[in-house]
Amino acid sequence: MLEYDVVVVGAGLAGMRAAIEASKKTAKVAVLTKVHPVRSHSGAAQGGINAALSPADSPESHAFDTVKGSDYLGDQDAIEVLCSEAPGDIIELEHMGTVFSRASDGRIAQRPFGGAGFPRTCYASDITGLVILHALYEQMLKLGIKVYDEWFVTSLAVDDGVCRGIIAIDLKSGKLEAVKAKAVILATGGCAPVFHNSSNALISTGDGMSLAYRAGATLMDMEFLQFHPTTLKANGVLITEGARGEGGYLLNALGERFMAKYAPNKMELASRDVVSRAEQTEIEEGRGIDGCVLIDLRHLGAQKIKERLMQIRELAMDIAGVDPIEQPIPIRPGAHYSMGGIKTDVHGATMLKGLYAAGECACVSVHGANRLGGNSLLETIVFGRRAGRAASELACSVAGASFPEAALSDEERRISELLKREKGERAHVLRKELQEAANTNLGIFRVAKKMQNCVEKVRELKERYARAIVQDRGRIFNTDLTNALQTGYLIDLGEAMALGALAREESRGAHSRLDFPKRDDEKWLKHTLAYWTPNGPRLGYLDVTMTKWPPAERSY
Ligand SMILES: Cc1cc2nc3c(=O)[nH]c(=O)nc-3n(C[C@H](O)[C@H](O)[C@H](O)COP(=O)(O)OP(=O)(O)OC[C@H]3O[C@@H](n4cnc5c(N)ncnc54)[C@H](O)[C@@H]3O)c2cc1C
Repeated sequence: MLEYDVVVVGAGLAGMRAAIEASKKTAKVAVLTKVHPVRSHSGAAQGGINAALSPADSPESHAFDTVKGSDYLGDQDAIEVLCSEAPGDIIELEHMGTVFSRASDGRIAQRPFGGAGFPRTCYASDITGLVILHALYEQMLKLGIKVYDEWFVTSLAVDDGVCRGIIAIDLKSGKLEAVKAKAVILATGGCAPVFHNSSNALISTGDGMSLAYRAGATLMDMEFLQFHPTTLKANGVLITEGARGEGGYLLNALGERFMAKYAPNKMELASRDVVSRAEQTEIEEGRGIDGCVLIDLRHLGAQKIKERLMQIRELAMDIAGVDPIEQPIPIRPGAHYSMGGIKTDVHGATMLKGLYAAGECACVSVHGANRLGGNSLLETIVFGRRAGRAASELACSVAGASFPEAALSDEERRISELLKREKGERAHVLRKELQEAANTNLGIFRVAKKMQNCVEKVRELKERYARAIVQDRGRIFNTDLTNALQTGYLIDLGEAMALGALAREESRGAHSRLDFPKRDDEKWLKHTLAYWTPNGPRLGYLDVTMTKWPPAERSY
């Protein structure tokens, strides 16, 4: 059996940053990832990463913008950690070799982003995630950190209420392997593909959230799913917020900059929930164009577009057939980011001993009910580092404990049963129905009846999933099998989202109810918790941590 002090699951920004930090304390660190590290979804991040670097800005004002953006649901102690540690982390990333774009005086350039009171988003053109991902991967190579790529984790091994390691399929051989660890860090990314045509990579199927939930850790605030205002109609591919940060306008069918009605001060740079609702309203009231509104960049000029927004120009030309130098791009809101996730403290510790989580799969919570653009990449770095530190400290302080022997054989039996099953539906049919149900019933505007439909649909899918089959019975690189397992994860998370949303009788951030249109701080200034039970999630609630900023009305 393989044995490590710290095992990190996931090699996006959060996972690699955690591994680099953990390796400072112990050499026995391994990273497992279902795709090669530089194919992680972090590599698709375009617009940038926030930090108050300028003397005219401050971590305090970054923290206030984040609290307000979160619609007061973010935990303020965690937000203060995020914002005060941001500048140091950006400088460290730069020293590791991240090539940020530069201002004319040679400093790291920063662009305005939605919901921010100061231009504090650092960027590398519009390929920021890719650039940081490669810098971290180089560091991992330099440090000689062991990477098991194309290993697909299927469960956590838990004994006596403590996480003792993981079980994974080595996709190249199809063999199931046990990896014993004193601490496990989940950094498996988000789960927006519960919805159809999300902006996420196909691999973002919420695996870690579901694994942690099934193993006894708690999920938090799953109902808060962010719709990004600018995604392409055909497939949900993202047009970065940086396009509005650089000065892009949103127009309706009448050629009006409609944001003047919804957010007269911040216009296109109001926070994402506000802009997405405005667009959806324009579309539903008949001022859209073929289910979209337009983002117009023409006035920025060819040079700026080519220099600062080169990738989105290519995406718009390839996918929408539109060159933004000459024509506006049709866009619509699309499922993008999971504010909720595995509940952790500010050191990444979950409710299950020995288990840590960081990045999009975690909920610290710094984003509350609505995340600000540029704060997610920052979260992966700040809390990836902190989780790596805490997990390695734990690993160095405990003696090795025994690995539950049955974990591997139980998992072998479960997977063989799935592979042998002869009759039933294929899982992709269920995934499609889940996504359709989520889009129809759990979208930007929500009402009780539709959410109830969604809950019922997910329960039906859960039952059908228990009898699902895979057609490829082979062991080597069986993507039919991994797709089926991923669909199981998405169904788990869809259920937690729909139930949490139905229960929350208010509108806050991304959770906007037509039947409860107001924020209700008296009853709902609290986090939703979801605990796994055989009959579906049991919900609980937890107070929000406040430090300096009492809830106030939110306008942009
Ligand atoms: C198109 C797009 C653009 C974005 N732009 C920005 C931006 O400009 N600024 C910003 O702040 N945020 C942005 N975001 C959000 C941000 O990029 C993500 O939240 C963040 O990168 C997530 O990083 P992560 O390390 O948590 O996970 P990911 O980068 O998603 O990595 C997940 C890792 O987990 C591994 N994994 C998952 N499941 C398993 C399993 N079962 N077994 C083994 N390995 C597994 C995967 O192989 C992968 O290595 C964007 C998101 C998208 C989708």
